Amino acid sequence: MTPQLFIVGTPIGNLGDWSPRGQEVLGSVELIACEDTRRTGSLLAKHGIKNPGMVVVNEHTEGRSIDRILDALAQGDRVALVSDAGMPTISDPGAQVVAAVAAAGHDVVVVPGPTAVSSALALSGFGEGRYVFEGFLPRKGSERAQRLASLADEPRMVVLYEAPHRIERTLHDLAEAMDVARSCIVARELTKLHESVWRGPLGDAGEAIGAPRGEYVIVIDAAAEQPEADDATLTAAVDQARAAGASTKDAAAEVAARFGVGRRRVYELATQSR
Ligand code: SAM
Repeated sequence: MTPQLFIVGTPIGNLGDWSPRGQEVLGSVELIACEDTRRTGSLLAKHGIKNPGMVVVNEHTEGRSIDRILDALAQGDRVALVSDAGMPTISDPGAQVVAAVAAAGHDVVVVPGPTAVSSALALSGFGEGRYVFEGFLPRKGSERAQRLASLADEPRMVVLYEAPHRIERTLHDLAEAMDVARSCIVARELTKLHESVWRGPLGDAGEAIGAPRGEYVIVIDAAAEQPEADDATLTAAVDQARAAGASTKDAAAEVAARFGVGRRRVYELATQSR
């Protein structure tokens, strides 16, 4: 058999969500790379799968584990990469392993499984538009402030992960940074016994979600589209910029960028109004 690395998705709560193919692969490989041997050992035991041997790939060990995984592949073994829950590498370790194995010329195969990001997006009902996956926000300091500021004008749907002890703070910070009227969902404990979804405007979410418990995904809907500016508005803006000293060309460029309209259209209006 060809040596291969399988990236295998595991359940995010409900064990019934684990695919037959995922189980079959874990039952057939010679080595399992996992975040936590006890968590993965218990998953294997629940499905009657024998432990073939494990190597720990977590935020501290990932770099060191790569050699062991490459050695196994070099000997002709097949290796599965899993995380504690969901898809490895999605706000989880594993990306360095995947990159190193691919760079070494071995096959990398994905065995998809549930992931909280796409599950929450589907639950949101916000449509099939573009989204940005933020994962966890930086916990504090200027990094967090900068990330929040960068989200202020983000027009696409935004998906974030959060832990129970930080969910209220994060919802408040998001409401301060972004338009409070944007629709959002706060999805909790997906696929588990206490799954729940709160729906409403972002400004209400922090107060409304109740006692924080379990794992959370926040999905914020896309910003409402601004109606395109009419000719009179654009002409007035150009006249104002020119009165402040800008050339017609510069005024047209600045106004076009500000209103998100074509530069040629604004330039033509500007030359007509001179
Ligand atoms: N690899 C995982 C995936 O594919 O979604 C994510 C792992 S990340 C370390 C854990 C975070 O994912 C949690 O803090 C939570 O934000 C989100 N998450 C994972 N499982 C969830 C669930 N069942 N319900 C809600 N959120 C979940």
